[in-house]
Amino acid sequence: MIRCSAGTAKVLGLNNIKADELPTTAYLMVGEHCKFNCAFCAQARESRSRTNLLSRVVWPEFHEQEVLKGLQIPEAQKVMQRVCFQVVQDGKALEEAKSYVRKIKSDNPAMPICVSAGPRSLDEIEDLLKHGVDRVSLALDAATPEVFAQAKDGSWQSRYDLLLEAAGKFPGHIGTHLIVGLGETEEDMARIIQDMYDKGITVALFAFTPVKGTRMENSVKPELEHYRRIQVAHYLIRRKFTRVDEFVFLRGKIVSFSLPLDQLWEYLSDGEAFRTSGCSGCNRPYYNESPREEFYNYPRSLTPEEVKRCWQELITNLDK
Ligand code: SF4
Repeated sequence: MIRCSAGTAKVLGLNNIKADELPTTAYLMVGEHCKFNCAFCAQARESRSRTNLLSRVVWPEFHEQEVLKGLQIPEAQKVMQRVCFQVVQDGKALEEAKSYVRKIKSDNPAMPICVSAGPRSLDEIEDLLKHGVDRVSLALDAATPEVFAQAKDGSWQSRYDLLLEAAGKFPGHIGTHLIVGLGETEEDMARIIQDMYDKGITVALFAFTPVKGTRMENSVKPELEHYRRIQVAHYLIRRKFTRVDEFVFLRGKIVSFSLPLDQLWEYLSDGEAFRTSGCSGCNRPYYNESPREEFYNYPRSLTPEEVKRCWQELITNLDK
């Protein structure tokens, strides 16, 4: 059995849910009951959440053959640009993921595949890449060691060191996930984003999402204005339009990107900065927001009105 996100199941012809936005990556989850205890995660060791949740997304279970067949149907072939395995750290799921990778690669050799997991060594990462995985994501999640200590198990420093070593050894194949709103300042987040890109590591930004049954179920989500500033910081850094040292911070908040507003608008007016970030083809619809809410990460191109709204949210608290 294997789980896939409800939206993925729809594209693979396995359910008939209604959804305005569909995934362009097939999100598959292997393993259950993680041995780690992240305060925000529905799969954490002490979480009381439903086992079919990851973030706020429901992941129904299917037979392996149904999912592999679903990936071959013309509708899925048209839409899906990659396959992403979310590997729960239960001790055996990484092996399971590798066996799925082999099967998907033999059916569809050109399909990019990524694995988001916590491999413990360069050897494990190398092994995944040898199996045909094109990107491995080692989730740092927290911008600083202090936030990590509050929200996660283990050591920020060892995860960070492994990320750097992996990026040095396998350039272009390593990414990380960072969660905005775990208690870090905007300055902390902007600085770690710059650091990651300086080391050749791709960043996927997430907004903290309280999930019932987790230790952080009563914490609040980041405000959209806050999230927009981080998205823009990320975009300006990723596209090398500017560097974090140019930003102006006041008590940890970004108050200026040190760019004239008309130039900033020129960079942002296509809306790209506000779209889901991470591996190519990854759009994660409704991962951080319900269908009734404004998107933190837009899973598609923005309309001109949506770009204007994001722009207004962005500049509300910037020095003009
Ligand atoms: S960025 Fe998207 S596709 Fe890449 S590992 Fe993260 S969730 Fe998967």
